[in-house]
Amino acid sequence: MQRFGLWLDGRWHETDRWIEVHSPYDGSLVGMVSAGDAEHLAQAVEAARRAMAHPLPAYQRAEILSRAAGLVEQRREDFARTIALEAGKPIRTARIEVMRAVATLTFSAIEARTLTGEVVPMEGASAGAGKMAFTVREPIGVVGAITPFNFPLNLVCHKVGPAIAAGCAVVLKPASATPITALKLAEVFMEADLPRGWLNVIPGSGGEVGNALVDHPDVPLISFTGSVEVGRAIRERVPHKKVLLELGNSSPLIVLEDANLESAAQAVATHGFSHAGQSCISVQRVLVHEPVADAFEQLVVQKVQELGVGDPLDEKTHVGPLITTADRDRVKAWIDEAVSAGARLLAGGTIEGNLLLPTVLADVTPDMKVFCREVFGPVVALTRFRTVDEAIELANATEYGLQAGVFTASIHIALEMAKRLHFGGVLINEAPTYRTDQMPYGGVKASGNTREGPHYAVREMTIEKLVVIQT
Ligand code: NAP
Repeated sequence: MQRFGLWLDGRWHETDRWIEVHSPYDGSLVGMVSAGDAEHLAQAVEAARRAMAHPLPAYQRAEILSRAAGLVEQRREDFARTIALEAGKPIRTARIEVMRAVATLTFSAIEARTLTGEVVPMEGASAGAGKMAFTVREPIGVVGAITPFNFPLNLVCHKVGPAIAAGCAVVLKPASATPITALKLAEVFMEADLPRGWLNVIPGSGGEVGNALVDHPDVPLISFTGSVEVGRAIRERVPHKKVLLELGNSSPLIVLEDANLESAAQAVATHGFSHAGQSCISVQRVLVHEPVADAFEQLVVQKVQELGVGDPLDEKTHVGPLITTADRDRVKAWIDEAVSAGARLLAGGTIEGNLLLPTVLADVTPDMKVFCREVFGPVVALTRFRTVDEAIELANATEYGLQAGVFTASIHIALEMAKRLHFGGVLINEAPTYRTDQMPYGGVKASGNTREGPHYAVREMTIEKLVVIQT
């Protein structure tokens, strides 16, 4: 059992309230973490402000980020185990998350070294004649970061890495289900010689610590990843602040009759059920061309039945538990509702202990919750289409728009899909779940208003200041 205080102004700070962190798989106690309150949050913001009063040169920020990347890599197994224990993510998938976090920090270090403004072509206008101008990027101020449970390391790195690269100190409120990974990352940054105050980790409830961070007048930017509901509430609460949102989604994967069905079915099985579907770009809605639909359904079912289901610490597990039993029961109810409304259950649909078995539904219609809402569970919903136009219409029939996938052998159809699918990213012959950490990643519509990936996030976290010189 592990025990952590808050990480505040470069030291551990125990409080009199504790968050118990339990394994979503068997309910066992994984650790105890101090819970902060609004007062601790205010102290953390003050520490961050004090830290920023002594700016670190870019090369030092880059060196710290590179050292942190190296330390995370050295502790790969400990981080992976922690993620498996507190988030219930299968250990093999957790290891991938850790190595992605190493990449995120490494790309952040590169951004720290190379971030520049630009030269403005003043003589392009007659009023600019005789003048030179350039911009510099200055840190926006203390960054308030709020993160979800499903990628407790890499999504934290996607906020902390670019913030430090930009020269901003950070106050982080991690998800209450998975705070231990974030606190271990604080240890890494301490060992990487990040001076005190530059990173503060304050676990606590969203309503208390999260709101206090959002409201704090000395935090000009909130970077939030989580549900649409909470993200919208934050934006409405502080309309005067810069609020970066990475929110929910319901990813479509379109399979054309000319596609490599084997690869497409493998993509559905692997990326519809990884971490029990608890990824914002999990394959959820599978739109299948009518002529190949029967064959494709069989292939998907065969591959899904091969998936290992069970203990996240077991090397053979691909599908573990949902984060809470309430989520398990919610998803099960949505499956039952779809079946009652006419969907065919091809696999799964039952509960075993804390696990919901990987579920494949066919003949799903757009009015069913498993189609029109974000399931965030181990369910893929198959729907047939007859024409390309119909596939595009079905894929776009959602309030969300993070990433979409298309499997086809036709370059013309691929390009048409890329043009007409209203999503932040369109992946051709790849699952919508594909992401490497330097990509510009983010959504349209309800899925968000920003792009993460260190190159993009660092620009969001800096202000471009103009300097004009009369020559
Ligand atoms: P969530 O319930 O919205 O929680 C996210 C974070 O917000 C947690 O730290 C939570 O704290 C905090 N929070 C809750 N209420 C708050 C409030 N009133 N003010 C400030 N903060 C508050 O989301 P989740 O269940 O952890 O994560 C799943 C969601 O995240 C899904 O919708 C998924 O699609 C989305 N997601 C999106 C992306 C992306 O890049 N677009 C990536 C991953 C996940 P507590 O834990 O203490 O409640």
